[in-house]
Amino acid sequence: VIDIGQPERSVVTTCAYCGVGCSFKAEMRGDELVRMVPYKDGKANRGHSCVKGRFAYGYAAHQDRILNPMVRDSIDQPWREVSWDEALSFAATKMKGIQQQYGKEAVGVITSSRCTNEETYLVQKLTRAVFENNNTDTCARVCHSPTGYGLGQTFGTSAGTQDFDSVEHSDVVMVIGANPTDGHPVFGSRLKKRLRQGAKLIVIDPRRTDLVKSPHIKASHHLALRPGTNVAIVTALAHVIVTEGLFDEAFIQERCEWDEFQDYVEFVSDPANSPEAVELLTGVPAEEVRGAARLYARGGNGAIYYGLGVTEHSQGSTTVIGIANLAMLTGNIGKKGVGVNPLRGQNNVQGSCDMGSFPHELPGYRHVKNADVRDIYEKQWGVTISDEPGLRIPNMLDAAVEGTFKGLYVQGEDILQSDPDTKHVAAGLAAMECVIVHDLFLNETANYAHVFLPGSTFLEKDGTFTNAERRINRVRKVMAPRNGYADWEVTQLLANAMGANWTYTHPSQIMEEIAATTPSFANVTYDLLEEKGSVQWPCNEAKPEGTPTMHLDGFVRGKGRFIRTDYVATDERTGPRFPLLLTTGRILSQYNVGAQTRRTDNVVWHEEDLLEIHPHDAELRGIKDGDWIKLMSRSGETSLRANVTDRVSTGVVYTTFHHPTTQANVVTTDYSDWATNCPEYKVTAVQVSLSNGQ
Ligand code: SF4
Repeated sequence: VIDIGQPERSVVTTCAYCGVGCSFKAEMRGDELVRMVPYKDGKANRGHSCVKGRFAYGYAAHQDRILNPMVRDSIDQPWREVSWDEALSFAATKMKGIQQQYGKEAVGVITSSRCTNEETYLVQKLTRAVFENNNTDTCARVCHSPTGYGLGQTFGTSAGTQDFDSVEHSDVVMVIGANPTDGHPVFGSRLKKRLRQGAKLIVIDPRRTDLVKSPHIKASHHLALRPGTNVAIVTALAHVIVTEGLFDEAFIQERCEWDEFQDYVEFVSDPANSPEAVELLTGVPAEEVRGAARLYARGGNGAIYYGLGVTEHSQGSTTVIGIANLAMLTGNIGKKGVGVNPLRGQNNVQGSCDMGSFPHELPGYRHVKNADVRDIYEKQWGVTISDEPGLRIPNMLDAAVEGTFKGLYVQGEDILQSDPDTKHVAAGLAAMECVIVHDLFLNETANYAHVFLPGSTFLEKDGTFTNAERRINRVRKVMAPRNGYADWEVTQLLANAMGANWTYTHPSQIMEEIAATTPSFANVTYDLLEEKGSVQWPCNEAKPEGTPTMHLDGFVRGKGRFIRTDYVATDERTGPRFPLLLTTGRILSQYNVGAQTRRTDNVVWHEEDLLEIHPHDAELRGIKDGDWIKLMSRSGETSLRANVTDRVSTGVVYTTFHHPTTQANVVTTDYSDWATNCPEYKVTAVQVSLSNGQ
């Protein structure tokens, strides 16, 4: 037992890891953070937390943090430590020079889903008001961009429909392509509690996650589908609901576009969409699909929770649409206990999307082509805003390789490790004349940077994060930034070095600007957040207390819209050389590429990424548990150790992506979602063989 003594003060703030957004009391003695205590009044966690949030703040004090700005003329030179003034002047001169030589469109930014709403708002403002283009994209590109598209098309806005409390009213829960006990542990615990109370569970996942069978919990149906066949399964569920007359006609007549519903009925009723017709494709027995469809449609309040196993596919957007169709078909929308709920991976991925990080949307998901919306920002910022959508991350990298895109400001995102097709990312970065990395650590992307601007942690700044239930939580400064400036200040300094005249002195002023220009945030102020603890958007004149459940009486778009979901096979195919399908996911103790959690004591719980392989597939290859194996795809190869387990089916292998030594994305493909370019991380044809070591 370690006696840490009594804290001298405590500050309530929000966890910087996953999209649950747990509230904590950071207990301090002097400038030292001695303990993070889950906050009992936190509305997202109600006094609970997981190991990441509670014990993994150590990265803030880690020796690897870079605290002084650095520059270099080319990436083969060593870094030179310089003052903030010199670094910002160096960066601004380079970016201005690029724009003069190659045009305004030759530079862009990538915002961070780990930074605050206020910081993200400023980075997209930098792009639109200072760089004068729309080349802003977000790391949500590689995770939940299909959620934005799919829910926008069907419901009218990109957001989970419920609050977390809602699960306590669910009778049937369908979890698709998500592993909440590892990825969103505090919500996972609440879900398990509801299941122990008797709610029924349907899991759609190629892998037997803990939810499928654990003490006191057993899924009624586990549809262990072949990776890449989500659309076929979701459409088959709809086929059963429609052809067996299980749909909620009254709800659909009142709340949805009737003509489009009829077209949809014709589409899903086609026998080619029946569970029997797709059984061979999906690998799921038709009776299991029929049973799951009947349970979801007739089991009472039905809620759907989904994750990156839905979105990170070449048909990610189509599956999101299919999920929205299921909820509308059964009337499972607009009340407690139901709904469509994307489980957001990162602490502020919802907020980074809300704040206008996408190249085609201003804050609040409003298209840059909309002159009325541009007019709001043109008046606010005193500039002219381009009506041309900008470049997405993959398009920026393509343009860099082609020689037309030359400068990039990346805030809090390691695209070299987290984006697909590592070789192509490296080629794009290497072709640029100015890469500015603004981060806590010298990450993999920084190997290609010319300017390194030290970042600040969530403990060192004020602001807000928006969690997966649209809850705007306060982030409160616990200690002074070790690097000298909070991230929002650095962006302001960079903008001013480029010629702007921004004068924010506190993030609350940025929130005032967000509220003044974004209808769904119109009533949000720091005073309101102090009073309420947190609020869920929309929070405006119509909903002054915020909105726990969306689409109560009508959808944001008016009437809900059914859209047909034709299955199109991915271009990634298995064959004699690459006979297995690789899919990926997270583990409880680690967070994404591990830049933060690997620099904490959490590393002792997960020292390396492992490849899960079924005993039958392992035996065929002479592989035993713990052996070093070579994992090879058409894109590249890597080595890691085998975990022989029946959690995966034959023909499927699985790994996590937390360690740079593994570099799982060396093997993933460059296929992506048809609507949003979200990479297809979840389907890669691979071969696995014994290797001689690391
Ligand atoms: Fe909560 Fe997620 Fe942080 Fe864990 S990682 S404490 S579940 S916000």
